[in-house]
Amino acid sequence: MNKLWLKIGVSFFVLFFITIVVVGVFSGELMKSTYMKMKEDQLKDEAQILVHTLNLSNQDLDRREAELEEAVAPLGKEVDARITIIDQTGQVVMDSKENPEKLGNHASRPEFQAILEGKKSVGIATRKSATVGYSMLYVAVPILHDGKVDGAVRISVSLESIEKAVDTLWGNLLLILLPILLIIAAISIIIARRITRPVKEIIEVSNDLASRNYSSRIYGKSSGELQEISVSVNKLAESLEQQMYEIRENSQRLSAIVENLVSGVMLINYDKEIIMTNKAMYQILGEQEITGRTFYEVIKSFSVSQLIEKGFQEKQRAQEEVSIYFPREMILDASVTPILMEDGEVSGVVLLLHDITQIRHLENVRSEFVANVSHELKTPVTAVKGFAETLLDGAMHNEELLRQFLTIIKDESERLNRLILDILALSKIEQKTLPIQIEQVNLDDVIRQSVEMVSEFAATKSIELELPEKHEPPLEIAAERDRIQQILVNLLSNAIQYTQAEGKVRLSLDDAGDYVVLKVSDNGIGIPEKDLERIFERFYRVDKARSRHSGGTGLGLSIVKHLVESMAGEIFVTSKEDQGTTFEIKWPKK
Ligand code: ADP
Repeated sequence: MNKLWLKIGVSFFVLFFITIVVVGVFSGELMKSTYMKMKEDQLKDEAQILVHTLNLSNQDLDRREAELEEAVAPLGKEVDARITIIDQTGQVVMDSKENPEKLGNHASRPEFQAILEGKKSVGIATRKSATVGYSMLYVAVPILHDGKVDGAVRISVSLESIEKAVDTLWGNLLLILLPILLIIAAISIIIARRITRPVKEIIEVSNDLASRNYSSRIYGKSSGELQEISVSVNKLAESLEQQMYEIRENSQRLSAIVENLVSGVMLINYDKEIIMTNKAMYQILGEQEITGRTFYEVIKSFSVSQLIEKGFQEKQRAQEEVSIYFPREMILDASVTPILMEDGEVSGVVLLLHDITQIRHLENVRSEFVANVSHELKTPVTAVKGFAETLLDGAMHNEELLRQFLTIIKDESERLNRLILDILALSKIEQKTLPIQIEQVNLDDVIRQSVEMVSEFAATKSIELELPEKHEPPLEIAAERDRIQQILVNLLSNAIQYTQAEGKVRLSLDDAGDYVVLKVSDNGIGIPEKDLERIFERFYRVDKARSRHSGGTGLGLSIVKHLVESMAGEIFVTSKEDQGTTFEIKWPKK
């Protein structure tokens, strides 16, 4: 009985059943009493007719016994009813079914009593007959003689026949009621189903919504309040779907932001379990399976763990710069922000790790650079100052010394000038303040012009310069002509510089599909392997004394590398001590 339609259906049915039973019993009883009343009236009329047709009021009853017997006896045989004629003393004068002599006095019979005083025109009684032995209906009418009750005509019928008739009536009634009840049962079920169908649909959609199927809707038609509920549920579903969509969108956006942050993000709950991290955090920690574990297991750095604990305990933001050595050496800016609930308790913390190794490295490089620049500047300045002072102290009177010292002062000033120009050039390239003038550059031409610029220097050391074959059609790239020339002059000068007299410097230019490859090789002193990776650093020289002696600033290769990269190229160096060095540049054609 859990089903709503069953409840409604059964209630309907029970209601109809009770109504029909009540109506049935009432109408049955009404029929029975109507039938009895009709029977009584009928018997009364029949008795009256007998009184009149037999002319009973005119003579003394007792003296007509034989005559009455003759007139009534055939009637008694033909009809079901029993006719009894009683005189005023209650003595039976004639009976259609029995011998009057055998019958006792009827004066005490209620139907006779009722009419004896002359007040009632009919006496009616039902009882079990002492004579025939079963229930009978007795109807008696008075026989009036000179206005006085002289006797009575009584007609009685067996109640059995009446009851049979009533039973037949009942039977017929049931025959009609039973199919009606069946029809009512069927109609009840149909009505109950019709009422509960929308309810069922509402329940199904509500369940769908509860299990996060927000696209579920009520499509069935209903009316009245059910229709209102359906519309409300549909509106609710729509609003939920919209809200869920927005939540999903926001969460996707948030995830995308968090996932792509360069800083590592980690959300740790109250149980110290990691519930969310991002890609950057995986990279910093060098681990993949992080979520679901406690932070103690994952974070190997004592300082970071301590910082997290501090966030939990002190309930305020904490920040620290920490160095970690696993999975690689890194300097991290670690910050912990507690997530506070309404009651002020900490529900978790957010850990942010930002890799500042590069920043710190650059800061070091910069301060080293400043120290280097000061040092580099100090050397020529000291020399200039020292020789000038020596001259002033009296050496200037010696013409030979004067000439010699002034030459040194001139050379040192030139070196100072070169140094300052290189520093300025480097700083401009680094700050990207010089816009690149891109044009189609014919590399064969640039190579020839650059070689021309260093040919005099090469000639002083009798160094042979070997040029590549000219390309046909000419090999071109989109770049800035002056920058390429500066690169080539720097590399060629170095090659001549660090190659013994009568050595050889070779230039090659090759087409490698999307790239051009330019090489400057020499068979000079070469670079020791340990220095190879540092030679592009500012002021780095393999042999300081030698480089300085030759007038080098130690900035040449650094400038070259920056220039190459400013035009999307790459530079590599290979070298063997005492055998020679090769610088290789790869440039995209476009
Ligand atoms: P420098 O002004 O001292 O030449 P660079 O930056 O041009 O400075 O070069 C850095 C250092 O690299 C040089 O001091 C030199 O030791 C080494 N070097 C550069 N080019 C060559 C080469 N072709 N052969 C050998 N050593 C070289």
